[in-house]
Amino acid sequence: MTAVTKNKKRFSPENRVLGSFYGTNNGPTILIFAGIHGNEKAGVYASEKVISKIAERNIRFKGNVHFILGNINALNKGVRFEEFDLNRIWRNEHFEDPIKTSAGLIAERKEQIEILSIVKAILLNEPGPFYFLDLHTTSAPSVPFITISDSLNNRKFSSNFPVPVVFGIEEFLDGPLLTFINEYGHIALGFEGGAHEDPSSIVNCEAFIWKALVHSKCIEKGNVPEYSTYQKVFENLCCKYQFFAIKYRYEIKPDEDFNMRPGFKNFEPIKKDALLAFSNGTPIPSPRRGRIFMPLYQEQGEDGFFVLKKISKFWLWLSIIARRLKFNHFLRLIPGVNQDPENNYTLIVDPKVARFMTLPIFHLFGYRQQIYKDDKLHFIKRDRKVTIFP
Ligand SMILES: [Zn+2]
Repeated sequence: MTAVTKNKKRFSPENRVLGSFYGTNNGPTILIFAGIHGNEKAGVYASEKVISKIAERNIRFKGNVHFILGNINALNKGVRFEEFDLNRIWRNEHFEDPIKTSAGLIAERKEQIEILSIVKAILLNEPGPFYFLDLHTTSAPSVPFITISDSLNNRKFSSNFPVPVVFGIEEFLDGPLLTFINEYGHIALGFEGGAHEDPSSIVNCEAFIWKALVHSKCIEKGNVPEYSTYQKVFENLCCKYQFFAIKYRYEIKPDEDFNMRPGFKNFEPIKKDALLAFSNGTPIPSPRRGRIFMPLYQEQGEDGFFVLKKISKFWLWLSIIARRLKFNHFLRLIPGVNQDPENNYTLIVDPKVARFMTLPIFHLFGYRQQIYKDDKLHFIKRDRKVTIFP
C-alpha cells in the first residue's frame, strides 16, 4: 500500500467542517478533530471515509457528529505546523496575549480562532453530552493508543477501546487542545493511530471513530457496515486495556542537535541507563526503567522521548474510591495547600511548606500539576462539572 502522504489533496478553510450529521435529539454530540498537526493526515482520510459511508448508507443515529479539520495551512504544506504548534496554544494566557513574531500574529492563531468559533457554536446550540476526539499519528511505529487527562469519565469512556491508555501528558505539554476542552468537564480522548506514513494508521483511526460512535450510543453496532472487521483491527495488540503514567520527558532545547537512536517502538520496555539518544553527540541514557514512549523521529517537535510506567489495578481502584468519597477536600487542610480564590478546581501548593506532599497523592485524587507561578505549584482537578465555554 502507498504511504499516507502520497495523496496531495488540498484543504480549504471554507471546508474546515468536513462533515456534520444530525440525528435524533436524544443522543450525544461528537466532535472529531483531524489534522491538528499538518503532517498527520491519516485521521483526515479516516474521517473522510467514515463521512462517505455515513452518507452513502444513510446511517441513522442519535445525536450529532461533526468532523473538523485542524491546521489547514500546515496540512496543505505537509508540515506539523507553520510557526507554532497548534496543539500548544490552548491556554487562557494565549487567548489574552496571543503569540506573535516580528511579522505579526503566528499563522496558527487564525486556525485557532476558526476552530474555536465552530466549537463554541456547537456547544451553544446542541444539547450534549459532548465527546471530543482528536486524531493524531506518531513519528515512530506504534500500536494505536489513547491519551487522556485522568478524569473518571475519560477513563470510563477510554476503557471501551482495547488499546493502551496514557495519563497525564498535560503535565509535560503546554496548552494541548484536549486539556483545554477537559477543563470544561467534557469527555476528551486523543487517539494516536500509528506511524504518520503507515496506511494502517488510516484503518486504525477509522476503527476508532466507528467504535467511539457505537460506545457513545450514537450509532447502533448493527448499523455500522462491516463492524466486525473494525473490531478485529484492535485484536492482538500489545498492552491492550492497560493504563500508563508518564514519568519522564526529555525536552529538546532550542538549537540542540537531538538524535534518537533508530529502531525504538512505542511502549517497548527499556532498562535504566539504556542508551536512547544523542544530544550534540553526547549519549542520553534512560533515567529509569519503564517503557519508551513517543521517541522523536522527525525534525519538528520539542519532546525527544517520554518514559512510561504501568499503573497498577490497585491504584486505579483506590483513586476511584478516593474521588467518589471526595477525600480531596482534606488536601486543602494541609499546611502549604490553599484553594485558589478564583477557581474552585485549583489548589495552590507551596512546595517549601508542603514538602512531604508528593505528586502521586495529587494524582490519586485526580489533580494534575498545571503551572508553576510565583514559586507555587498549581494543581488542577480533572473531574469536574460540565460547563459551556466562558
Ligand atoms: Zn499529533
